[in-house]
Amino acid sequence: MENASNKKTRNRPVYRHVNSLDTLLSMSMPVTESGCWIWLGSTTKSGYGRICIDRKDHLAHRFALSVSGGNVSKSDLVMHKCDNPICVNPEHLQIGTQCDNMKDMARKGRSSKGAMRYNAKLNESIVKYIRDSGEHPKILAAQLNVSRELVRDVKANKRWRHVA
Ligand SMILES: [Zn+2]
Repeated sequence: MENASNKKTRNRPVYRHVNSLDTLLSMSMPVTESGCWIWLGSTTKSGYGRICIDRKDHLAHRFALSVSGGNVSKSDLVMHKCDNPICVNPEHLQIGTQCDNMKDMARKGRSSKGAMRYNAKLNESIVKYIRDSGEHPKILAAQLNVSRELVRDVKANKRWRHVA
């Protein structure tokens, strides 16, 4: 059931009902040196931009990539090429997998000891991402390629309690 419906919705933009390139532009401020667009709305605890659509919180960078023509499905992980969580410049965003994300962080020298352990499924950034995201554990689990139980435990602070 779930898999079938996932396939059907796979290529449908998540925010198609919002014609919001204007919103994006009015809610962000370009920074000349870096080319980053700084989100001016509210942010999550981990410093990602946050936007409320239909009374539900969404991450602003996912919204940005989607409204600028990126084909973002719910199970896609949207990453920052510029390593600046508050940036919403679609050109600085790309769809990646958790594996890409971890390689990317290792390359940038940000990976924690926990994340470097063999077969570690999460790292501190991803834990924060899970706790900040308003998405259903099922969707987060698909984005991050981990079990729903793990996502639920992280959200409930049963695991990775040391990450604030
Ligand atoms: Zn940027």
